[in-house]
Formats: sequence, structure tokens, C-alpha cells
Amino acid sequence: MFGQMQDSPLLVSQLIEHAATLYPEQVIATKTVEGHWHEYNYKEAALRSRKLAQALLRIGVKDGDVIATMAWNTYRHFECWYGISGMGAILHTVNPRLFPEQLDYIINHAQDQYIFIDTTFVPLLEKLQAQLPHVKGYILMTDSAHMPDTSLKNALCYETLIEQESGDFTWPVLDERQATSICYTSGTTGNPKGVLYSHRSSILHSWAITAKSVGNIDHETCILPIVPMFHANAWGLVYASAMTGAKVVLPGPHLDGKSVCQMVNKYEVDLTAAVPTVWTMLLQYLEASGETLESLNSVLIGGSAVPRSMIEKFETVYGVEVWQAWGMTEMSPLGSLNRLSKQDKKLDYQQQLDIKVKQGRPCFGVQMKIVDDNNTTLANDGSAFGRLMVKGPWVVASYFKSDKSALEDDGWFDTGDVATIDASGNMQITDRSKDVIKSGGEWISSIDLENAAMGHPDIQEAAVIGVAHPKWEERPLLIVVPKDATNPPNMEHVLHFLSDKVAKWWLPDDMAIVTDIPHTATGKINKLGLRHQFKDYKLPITQNA
Ligand code: ADP
Repeated sequence: MFGQMQDSPLLVSQLIEHAATLYPEQVIATKTVEGHWHEYNYKEAALRSRKLAQALLRIGVKDGDVIATMAWNTYRHFECWYGISGMGAILHTVNPRLFPEQLDYIINHAQDQYIFIDTTFVPLLEKLQAQLPHVKGYILMTDSAHMPDTSLKNALCYETLIEQESGDFTWPVLDERQATSICYTSGTTGNPKGVLYSHRSSILHSWAITAKSVGNIDHETCILPIVPMFHANAWGLVYASAMTGAKVVLPGPHLDGKSVCQMVNKYEVDLTAAVPTVWTMLLQYLEASGETLESLNSVLIGGSAVPRSMIEKFETVYGVEVWQAWGMTEMSPLGSLNRLSKQDKKLDYQQQLDIKVKQGRPCFGVQMKIVDDNNTTLANDGSAFGRLMVKGPWVVASYFKSDKSALEDDGWFDTGDVATIDASGNMQITDRSKDVIKSGGEWISSIDLENAAMGHPDIQEAAVIGVAHPKWEERPLLIVVPKDATNPPNMEHVLHFLSDKVAKWWLPDDMAIVTDIPHTATGKINKLGLRHQFKDYKLPITQNA
């Protein structure tokens, strides 16, 4: 027997209208591309989103058309999220940090009809536009006073486009399974793949994020999403803010340590989110300037493993609690979050850190398991490791324009990560399956080694890759950026430092000092690039040989 409750669709347009009705005066502040602060509220954001929807209809955009953005986190981008998806079109958030050939590929693959761009990206798209024949026009996210001269075909001004509309518009009642948006994975192997989210998946994911045990977001929260709206949906924070009426601070392109510190202090931000590289910049700035983060309660860090030393610094020096999150574009992106239990909080701090370096427990809605190569489920004992599989209503089922399922026969999605799960359900990523170092039939976790090395006082950033070895197949090479280039750490000292942190046979066979470690478009260490750079590297034959 079915329940007898209303079956009304879950739609993202409801989020902005909810915020406009219940929290009309709540502030949305943006540090604009032009460099000044812009402030308005949910009531105005909703009005302008409706005007945008009307303008899109006027220029011929239809239900199901794909409309791209290449933009920083700003109020106009925020309006695009609601205006485009709300009227039934599909928002494609393009990551401008992708290589030009990847940009060309994804814009053509998605068949974007219009692209909303920040003026920052005009030169990039002017170069690319010849390869994008189906794009009908480019909408520059600025006002008429700041419109640059451009060779872009059919260049329109955002403010001019929407000012002609009244905002007197009723959002269409769509099927909740209809697509809201597309994000492409950064495609470190092969072409990027598109993940097509639905209204339903977006709302369910947003609910999960706001929960007390997850993001703890409500109308009293002030959120600074530094994670870009073009990276895995800004981790759901655009929708979660409107769902709860939270105050929002949008950083535009200003992501350096000083700017972030000023934003936090100016708006009394209490929750912010970004990948570890952003926090390295902020922590360096704080150390050099002596400034503090008075209002900040928690920082959400994900996208790559969070070094223990980073957690410790945030918590013990600046009084900011670190919540490590794990997820992926294919998961909208949230999979798990590390929030200590009441019991965990009674442990001594170093023991708490042992837990905090893990990627945490799945939030309600996500199921997780680890399996071996025969697809047999492994024990949740904290030591067995295997392929991490997930399931849930905001996990991809198939990639955009592919008629093949993205799932295993039993309906689980293989994340490509290798992990352990402990008895309390805390998952820990040991590696991407392709980055694991296979030494003498055993696996060495490059993430664990990097994490340990990053705690060394003279190391700014560390990466570990497997390098061919005549006897052991592969051995770890530690690649480091020193804090002081004129006084890099020596190998002996680093090995001694690592010796009580990892198993002896994991210790790197060699260390290379570099000035810079390459990163991907989503801020992860570019292991593929490093493997290429060090492909002819010959390890000294050590005691491990
Ligand atoms: P990309 O487009 O770079 O693939 P994603 O953000 O979708 O971007 O990448 C997802 C992957 O990032 C995960 O499968 C995992 O390998 C890695 N990742 C995300 N969060 C964490 C974390 N907290 N710790 C370790 N790895 C992480």
C-alpha cells in the first residue's frame, strides 16, 4: 500500500523563493571582479534570478538547453544557478582552470548555447570561440560601464540583459527528475566526463549538507564558500545557503590569504570551505601578518587529504575546528564528513587527530563499502583496504550522453579510491587506485606518506609517487617544496622525522627538491604530471634493494 501524501516535486527554484520569503533581508555580499564590495539580499537575488529567467526566455532559451557559466563566486553567478536551472534549462559550470583543449571538448560535448562569463575570462574565450560554433552568444557578467571591448561573437551585457525584465515571473513546475546542472570531472585520464544532476538530487544533497551533524548550517550561519561554483557545485553550499537563509559572502576572484582573512573578519564568517591549497596560503598569511580569525568556528576542507599539521595549526593556534570532507563530482559531491563523536572528543588531542586525518563517516543518504578485486566486501576493521564503492540518490548513475551505466552490475559506483573503514564507520582514503605505490606485492599509501612529510617543519608541500625499481617493482620517491628554498631539508633528517610515523619499508628511497608541485584544475597534486616529469628518474639502490 502506498502512503497518501502529496507528491510535489523538489525544485531548486523553491530554494530561492523560500529564502526570499523567510529571510528577505539576509545579506549576500560579494567581493566583485572589479574589486569593490557589493551587498544585497535574498529578496533582491530572487527578483534578479526571475528577471534572468525571463531574459533567457526572451533570447530563445528553451527547457533542456545547456547554458554555461565561466565565472567566479559572485552574486551574478549565484543568480545564474537559480535563473538558469529554475526556468528548466541546464546550468553547465565550466572550470576555467582546465586546459584549453579540455574546455573546447566539454563546451562542445555539452553543446552550450550561451556562456555567461566574468570579464576575467574574455581573453580565454576570445581565443577559443572559433572552436565553439554552436555557442550563440557570450553574456558578460558586468554592467554597461565595465563592458570591455571584445571580439566575442554576440557579446551581451548581463545588467543590460536583465534590466529590461519585470521579475514578474512564476517558476515552471518541472519534473523533479529533470536536470538542473552539469559538472565535468577534470579527466586526469581520458576525456572529462559530464555528471548531470537533477532537481531532486540537488535538493536531497542540500538537505544532507545543512544537517547539524554535517554542515550545521542555518539562518544564523555566515558562509564563505571559497570552493568555486565551478568545482563540484561549490560542495552544495549555494543551495544549502538559500535552503536555510544563511548569510553568504562570495569571494569573487580574491582567493589569496590576505583577502580571505579580511573577508572572514569583515563579515564575521563562521563557516568556510575550500581545498587544502587555499588554506596553505591563508595559514602562511596569518603566520606572517600575526592576524587572527576571530569569528571563524569551522573550516570545511576536502578535495584532497588534509595534512595533520594543517588540522593541528587551525585548531590549536587559531581556534578553528577542521571538518574534513570527502566526495567527488560524481557524488554532487558530498560523501562523508569527519565530525568527532562525543566519545572521540574525550580522547587526548593527538588521538583525536588520528581520527581527524580520516575522511569521516558517510552522511545519511550515502552508503559505502570496500571490496577486494573479486568484489567481496571487506571488513570494517580499519586495516583491510579495498576499492571504495558508494550508492545513493545523489550519486551518478550514468555519464552525460552515455547510454552505458556507470555502475557495477550490483548497482554500486566504484569511486576509484582505495580506502579503509573502521568499526565506527570512519572511512580513510589511502590513495586513488592509480596512485597507489606497489612495492614487492604490497601497497604503500602515497597519501599517508605525503601527510606525514607535510608535518616536517622545513617542508612546504610534499608529493609521493612510485618510481620503477629493479627488485621491488616500485618504490616511493618523495618530492618536496622546501619552506626556504635557500635552506632545503636534507634527506637523512626527513627520513628520521618520518621513521616513527610510517612503517620502515614505506620510507621513501629518495627525495627530490623542487620549486613547485603541479596541481590539477581542482587543486589536487597532479600525480600524472609528476610521473611524467620523473619518468626517467633513477632511484639510488638503498637498503631496500
Ligand atoms: P576531479 O574533477 O579533480 O576528479 P573531484 O573533486 O570530483 O574532482 O575529485 C574527487 C576525488 O578527490 C576523490 O575521488 C578523491 O580521490 C579525492 N578527494 C576528495 N576529497 C578528499 C579527501 N578529503 N581526502 C582525500 N582525497 C579526497
